[in-house]
Amino acid sequence: MSSKPTSSKPTSSRPTSSKIRTTTLPSGEAVPVLGQGTWKMGEDRRRRADEVAALKLGLDLGITLIDTAEMYAGGGAEEVVAEAIAGRRDETFLVSKVLPTNASWAGVMRACENSLKRLATDRIDLYLLHWPGSVPLAETVGAFEALTAAGKIRHWGVSNFDTDDMEELVGLASGGNVQTNQVLYNLSRRGPEFDLAPWSLKRGIPLMAYSPVEQGALARNARLDAIAVRHNATAAQIALAWVMAQKGVIAIPKASRQEHVRQNAAALDIALTPQDFAELDRAFPPPTRKRGLEMI
Ligand code: NAP
Repeated sequence: MSSKPTSSKPTSSRPTSSKIRTTTLPSGEAVPVLGQGTWKMGEDRRRRADEVAALKLGLDLGITLIDTAEMYAGGGAEEVVAEAIAGRRDETFLVSKVLPTNASWAGVMRACENSLKRLATDRIDLYLLHWPGSVPLAETVGAFEALTAAGKIRHWGVSNFDTDDMEELVGLASGGNVQTNQVLYNLSRRGPEFDLAPWSLKRGIPLMAYSPVEQGALARNARLDAIAVRHNATAAQIALAWVMAQKGVIAIPKASRQEHVRQNAAALDIALTPQDFAELDRAFPPPTRKRGLEMI
C-alpha cells in the first residue's frame, strides 16, 4: 500500500459528459450508474456546509442519485440531503433505507414518515430494507407495497441480501417487485461475483455497490497507481471506473470534498482497457468459491 496523498497525483477531474451513463431498474426506469453516498454526513455541524456543497456539486455534474438512510447520523444525513436538494427535488433520485429493527408493518410506516419529514419531500424514489432482520420478510414487503400504492415511495429494494436471501424474497407475493440489492462490492471485495452478481444480472436486478473505494483504502492502493498513471487519473478513479464497468452495477461513493466529487464524476469517462482488466484481475483475483456476503 502506498502512503502518498492522492492529491499529489495527476488527476483527471474535468466535468463529466453531459449525459451520465445509466442502467435500468426492473420497473424500466433508467438510473445513473454513479450516485452519491452520505454515510458519516450530518455527524458534525462544522462539516455540514462542505457536505451540502459537495452533494450540490454532484447534482450539477449529473450525479443525481443520492443514497442515504435513517441510520446515518440518526437521521442527520437525511437532513443534509434535504438541504442539498432544496429546490431541486425533481432532478434527484432519492434512495433511503429503513433499519431492520423498524421493519414491521407499523415500524416501516413510521420510519418512512420520519424519513420523508427529514428529507423535506413527499416521496422517496427507492426505499430499501437496510439488512435482513428478524421481522418476517413478507411483512416488510407488504408495508413497502402499501407505501408504493400510497405514493410515499416510488420503488423498493433491499440491501445486504445474499443469494439465498434474494431467492427467499422473490419467492414471496410481490417479492418480484424488488428493484435493487445494495451490497458491499469493490475490487477488494469481489465475493458477490461468484453467484450473487450473475443471479441478479439474469433477473435484471441491478446491484448497488456500496463502499466502492473501500472507504478510501483503494485510493491509497499502490497496485492501482500504475494503471492510474496510464489514464492520467487517481487510484480511486480506477477503482470506481472498474465498479461502473460491471454490467448492471451502480456505484455510490461518498465524497464530502468537492475535489473528490469532481474526480468521481470524471471516472465515468475512464475506459479501462483489456490490459487494465487483466492487471486488475491479477492484483484483485475474482472469487473461486462461494463466501458469505460481507457487510460493513
Ligand atoms: P466509500 O464511498 O468507498 O469511501 C468514502 C471515502 O472515500 C471518504 O473518506 C471519501 O473522502 C473518500 N473518497 C471518495 N471519493 C474519493 C476520491 N475520488 N479520491 C480519494 N478518496 C475519495 O465508502 P462508504 O461511504 O462506506 O460507501 C459509500 C456509500 O454507500 C455510503 O456513504 C452509504 O451511502 C452507502 N453504504 C451503504 C451500506 C449498507 O449497508 N447499505 C454500508 C456502507 C455504505 P471525503 O468524504 O473526504 O471526500
